[in-house]
Amino acid sequence: MKNILSKKSENLSIKKIDWSKIQIDMKEKLGNGIYESWLKKIDFIEEFNNYILIAVSTRFIRDWITSRYLDQILQIVKIHKKEISRIEFTIIEQKKELIDIRNKANDFKNGDNKNISFIKDSFLQYNRIDPNKNFENFVIGPSNKLAFEASKKVSEDLSHYNPLYLYGGVGMGKTHLLNAIGLEIKSKRKVMFISAERFMYQFVKSIKSNDMVRFKDYFRNTDVLLIDDIQFMNGKEAMQEEFFHTFNALIDKGSQVIVSADRPPNKLSRIQERIKSRFSGGLVVDIQNPDYELRYNIVKTKIDEFKLSDSITLNLSEEIIKFISSEIRTSIRELVGALNRINSFSRIYNKIPTIGETKAILKDLLNLSESKVTIDLIQTIVCKFFKISKNEMLSARRSRYLVRPRQTAIYLSKILTSKSLPEIGRCFSNRDHTTVIHSVKTIEKLRQENKDINSNIDNLKNKILYNKENEIQS
Ligand code: ADP
Ligand code: MG
Repeated sequence: MKNILSKKSENLSIKKIDWSKIQIDMKEKLGNGIYESWLKKIDFIEEFNNYILIAVSTRFIRDWITSRYLDQILQIVKIHKKEISRIEFTIIEQKKELIDIRNKANDFKNGDNKNISFIKDSFLQYNRIDPNKNFENFVIGPSNKLAFEASKKVSEDLSHYNPLYLYGGVGMGKTHLLNAIGLEIKSKRKVMFISAERFMYQFVKSIKSNDMVRFKDYFRNTDVLLIDDIQFMNGKEAMQEEFFHTFNALIDKGSQVIVSADRPPNKLSRIQERIKSRFSGGLVVDIQNPDYELRYNIVKTKIDEFKLSDSITLNLSEEIIKFISSEIRTSIRELVGALNRINSFSRIYNKIPTIGETKAILKDLLNLSESKVTIDLIQTIVCKFFKISKNEMLSARRSRYLVRPRQTAIYLSKILTSKSLPEIGRCFSNRDHTTVIHSVKTIEKLRQENKDINSNIDNLKNKILYNKENEIQS
């Protein structure tokens, strides 16, 4: 074993691939939509002599990426390292597994792989305002109403609130709002829209190339400075110094400064106190997590946007719309990503996905954790489907009309929960684990032989995974 390990590390080439650079290129070449929906979640595992190993969380995503984007990804990888001739996938459903695999892969390395995030260079190209993120398509709910109104006010009436500081978690719409402000003012005034990361990068680069004068002029001449994700500007004394001066100079001459961050000013770490206190001196507004209604309205709005941009309409059923709105809760970004996926699915297969397909497409985003799926729930749903009582299902009786439902419930318990065979047996009136195995085998066989049975079981599976709320109502 030792020999294999040392041989492997010898084979590793000197210049390692920096996955963050590949990600930047993928985003640029394949577009933000595709990147956000499919490629961002690829985990880089390890680089070998002539191939790389990457991981995604479901088979569906792997197949999707393989069939559509793999060639382009490989080309991008080759730009960074021409020796790479193929890409291999592994499916890693759980994050823990990923960490284990990473640790194993790290055994092959010398431990010097601290990726410093890389910002693509091209001077003053960063001032890009996206016309698709405007006030009109920003959907309002209680969680973001104040932030929206403050942003509108600022774009109508400069220096009304100065600075305006917007904060909130990832994917809540901060960049969208900053962008909308820029878009609104752009035609009338000089606008500079930049992420704090890029501001730092540009700063360092200007020092190196002796170009500080231009840097200063550039920033100090603007009427509106929008700085996104200020939390990334930490440490770096000289840069904070420069920022502070720019900031003061702008405010003194009546220019508007708008800042976004993932936290309130006083929680920013490694940022000078005086900068924090200047941030707090204007208007500070937060964006909170969207509630169900806002999520639902966003889904509806996005579907309408797809209708405008494509000839095919995405006629998702109300059931699916409600399902997505209730299940994808972490952020609006995830919600939008989920819809982009569904949209590309329906364009490529030329059909609207069923609820089952929706779940497969979104599996990694959904929190359909097994804890929600209990054996009790499975029994309830199966009994209802076969119109028998739970007592009958759990009885010792072996009448035909009871055996099949019982076997079905046992089978579903096996595939939808992580309970062991004896545990499952116990939930079915202490049946032996061999009975459990027999039931699972029987149903597996029936599913292969009989189309109707197979589709009934798929239906039941969907009911169990999704219908919890409906269950409670009925
Ligand atoms: P943040 O900068 O807070 O991380 P973004 O502004 O990038 O989040 O938003 C993530 C995605 O969600 C973007 O595609 C954005 O257009 C969309 N989005 C966020 N909030 C809204 C909203 N209220 N209405 C419509 N789309 C939204
Ligand atoms: Mg952002």
